[in-house]
Amino acid sequence: MRKFRNFAVAGLAAGALFALTACNSGSPTDPAGGGDAPEQEVAEDVALEGSDTYDRMVENGGPTIGVKEDQPGLGYLDVTTGERSGFDIEIARWIAASLGFEEDDITYEPIASANREQAIMNGDIDYYVGTYSITDQRKEQIDFAGPYFETGQGFLVSADSEMTEVTDVSDFNGMNVCSATGSTPIQNIKENFPEINASEYDIYSQCVEDVLSGKVDAVTTDAAILIGYAAQDPDNLKVLDGLFTEERYGVGIPKGDSALQEHINTLFTDGGDKWQEIFDATLGQSGIEIEQPEVDAAS
Ligand code: GLU
Repeated sequence: MRKFRNFAVAGLAAGALFALTACNSGSPTDPAGGGDAPEQEVAEDVALEGSDTYDRMVENGGPTIGVKEDQPGLGYLDVTTGERSGFDIEIARWIAASLGFEEDDITYEPIASANREQAIMNGDIDYYVGTYSITDQRKEQIDFAGPYFETGQGFLVSADSEMTEVTDVSDFNGMNVCSATGSTPIQNIKENFPEINASEYDIYSQCVEDVLSGKVDAVTTDAAILIGYAAQDPDNLKVLDGLFTEERYGVGIPKGDSALQEHINTLFTDGGDKWQEIFDATLGQSGIEIEQPEVDAAS
């Protein structure tokens, strides 16, 4: 069982604060997260011995990748242009290119937090890149490559709220807090903070709507996600200072496909400046500063 630690990551907290400062100063922010997407070099003559998932991608003419599409800066679909953008999307594209696939070969499949393990186990998707925390519970059903990012649980409130920071999650006792079904933050609230009135939806953007309408007091999930929503609507939303839990993002892959796992881990480890380029063009646009975590082969 995953143990949630209550700790503050100084660097992250400072980063979140910086992001807010940037927003409040009225600097232009791009809801989709930004700058020019880095060029992806499509690998040639790829051979991935012993990976059933890779064989399936080849058979289908490209990978089917599970993603989020309502998380600005991370996994976002602009419905007017049809363009997908964000840190997770670029990571997903980087992996596809390393396996020899062009952008046009990719099929994106939006999958909510609660349905990720099942989608991977069913073979509906080849891999998943979307704010997916590595946990022991999930590892019973699927495998992860990575981690490729680290963040922690935070809180998003209305910009006119008097709160500025959270010292403990229990600060929200007796209040209404929304999160996504099947996510680690909703699990944390339900298991460890029974005095918080928790509500849940499939996707976080619906929780954000409830904060804007005054139906709930806060949205709780990874700070990286919350910063994206606040950047999109800085007049009405703010992220509180204070981080809880440690969320390490991994790429979800079918259980037992160690060839694919090793391929992605090697890509992350030997990728040179690519991770930084992707970060700078997406999440980094909000002003946060986060370093690439070391790959953990035991993920
Ligand atoms: N990283 C957390 C999780 O994997 C929350 C974000 C999400 O729901 O995707 O549960």
